[in-house]
Amino acid sequence: MIRVENLHKHFGGFHAVDGASLEIATGSITGLVGPNGAGKTTLFNVIAGVLEPTSGQVRMDGDDITGLPPHVLFHKGLLRTFQIAHEFSSMTCRENLMMVPGGQSGETLWNAWFQRGRIAQEEETLLKKADEVLDFLTISHLKNERAGNLSGGQKKLLELGRTMMVDAKIVFLDEVGAGVNRTLLNTIGDAILRLNQERGYTFCMIEHDMDFIGRLCDPVIVMAEGKVLAQGTIDEIKANEAVIEAYLGT
Ligand code: ADP
Repeated sequence: MIRVENLHKHFGGFHAVDGASLEIATGSITGLVGPNGAGKTTLFNVIAGVLEPTSGQVRMDGDDITGLPPHVLFHKGLLRTFQIAHEFSSMTCRENLMMVPGGQSGETLWNAWFQRGRIAQEEETLLKKADEVLDFLTISHLKNERAGNLSGGQKKLLELGRTMMVDAKIVFLDEVGAGVNRTLLNTIGDAILRLNQERGYTFCMIEHDMDFIGRLCDPVIVMAEGKVLAQGTIDEIKANEAVIEAYLGT
């Protein structure tokens, strides 16, 4: 689904991504690991249109998507999860989900005055969808809770839920397991697996927790110093001497 070719991202003279090439297969849950500073987040941000690459190419289903802005990629089904922004923390979980799709009739003044029926219908559909998403993620009980009151793990589930409000094809998850307790980590892992198996989502995830990676990801790609160092199953990666050396060197 995604092909990255010889990608470079330089910050001044520093090469954060330094000629990375990789593929993310349709239907896979691909893990991206590597020592701190390896360039994983920068690579994610370039693929997801948050940063412009210095050079190189990103393709999605054969189309050149290099440098396209996030909202264009969003409409192509490529999503990157972000922390719930501060300004949305006073809104409920349900409201946070309902505002994801955008482009609703009620957003223009004209429609707000003259198309009340249509707006009510759209809101009804969105509300139903938001409740389905909350149910899928087993957090229905939190639908009227303000996002700012959620625990770290619950916020991660809500972030994942936001991708379910639109027709995502591929979702980039940045350390979804960081600082999350074991129980919620299992819930998040289950949701990722079900989205992959039942709804055909492709995932690419940066993660440090090797158990979590081992449970979910195949293949696992290892980055070091801005390049792809190795790729394989979790067991192959763990036994790879260059990988062990890269981790020990930090
Ligand atoms: P990782 O996610 O693997 O820990 P990052 O992509 O966050 O790695 O960072 C790779 C390197 O690029 C780090 O040394 C970091 O300090 C540097 N870097 C990242 N973003 C910027 C930036 N905006 N300006 C300058 N250097 C940056």
